[in-house]
Amino acid sequence: MSRQIKIGNLTLGGGAPVRVQSMTNTDTMDTRATVEQALRMVEAGCELVRITAPDVKAAENLGRIKEELLKRGCEVPLVADIHFNPKAAEVAATLVEKVRVNPGNYTDRNTGKLEFTEREYNDELKRIGERMASLIDICKRHHTAMRIGTNHGSLSERIMSRYGNSPEGMAQSAIEFARVCEEQDYHDLVFSMKASNVKVMVDSTRLFVSKMHAMGMDYPIHLGVTEAGDGMQGRLKSAAGIGALLLDGIGDTIRVSLTEDPEKEMPIAYDILQAVGARITQPEYIACPSCGRTQYDIQKALQEIKAKTVHLVGVKIGVMGCIVNGPGEMADADYGYVGSGHGKITLYKGKEVVKRDIDQKDAVEELVKLIENDRL
Ligand code: SF4
Repeated sequence: MSRQIKIGNLTLGGGAPVRVQSMTNTDTMDTRATVEQALRMVEAGCELVRITAPDVKAAENLGRIKEELLKRGCEVPLVADIHFNPKAAEVAATLVEKVRVNPGNYTDRNTGKLEFTEREYNDELKRIGERMASLIDICKRHHTAMRIGTNHGSLSERIMSRYGNSPEGMAQSAIEFARVCEEQDYHDLVFSMKASNVKVMVDSTRLFVSKMHAMGMDYPIHLGVTEAGDGMQGRLKSAAGIGALLLDGIGDTIRVSLTEDPEKEMPIAYDILQAVGARITQPEYIACPSCGRTQYDIQKALQEIKAKTVHLVGVKIGVMGCIVNGPGEMADADYGYVGSGHGKITLYKGKEVVKRDIDQKDAVEELVKLIENDRL
């Protein structure tokens, strides 16, 4: 299990629920639009709102955004997203609960240099330590957390000269920053390895986590597939990458990146968490695809059951086409709705029959009554 850190009043890692986060896509200087969007995101379930801070002015404006959100009764922690601009990070770290830096471009500057001698490489590492010292000092004083977020698309030339544009390079890039933070006794850290290629994202995260553990570190991990796109493809890429790692037991916070309004990401995030059993926020339905043995309208029944049980968080309901295979196949369902002849339904509680051969027209009501009576 990862260690637990605090981001404002939010706990992350160490057994806390896997946190759902997203990022605004408004102009950071447009306080009103950013605040309105952040509020919509929070309304949809977002627990951590990231806002880009490309320069010092934008970083300063995060303070106004924070203030306005508080005035509107919203205490959601904010994360400043930083690329290329240490000064903006230092300003933001005094105003918001977390800063995200990209180790590929926080201090390294790309100049077209393809080869680094051992000495040049180590000099650069020393420079990272010096450059990070002031940000770390500010974070410590303000209890600001930091995400060290490596992106496949923006590794430094120095890292690429040694490791190539690879999962190994991504993991090493973050490990270098992790060492710097540990040397300076700063531990409010989260790490991420992101790529638009799902396999690279999964491989680099697994690699990073194994290296981190080997070094005795246990920081929380943020998961996400970048540039996943929109629609079904974006959702499936995110589900595949994030889901695979959650099933490995890796991941303390997730972001589903879609080329859509950010508040659309939250339902998908919660669906992914539910699908892998990482965070249960809705009922679970175990329904068979039906086949020639089904003698009632299972599709209609499933829709009706879902509509009437949406509030029963955590309850597992099996909806099965036939009595021959249904009861055995609905696995660990708490309740079962199983076809038992022409238009007839038999209700189960666990593996036990509770009511036999009810007319389909009454069966959904009976099922809901059965569950609700048990919950009284
Ligand atoms: S449970 Fe019965 S109806 Fe459903 S797919 Fe299996 S055999 Fe067919």
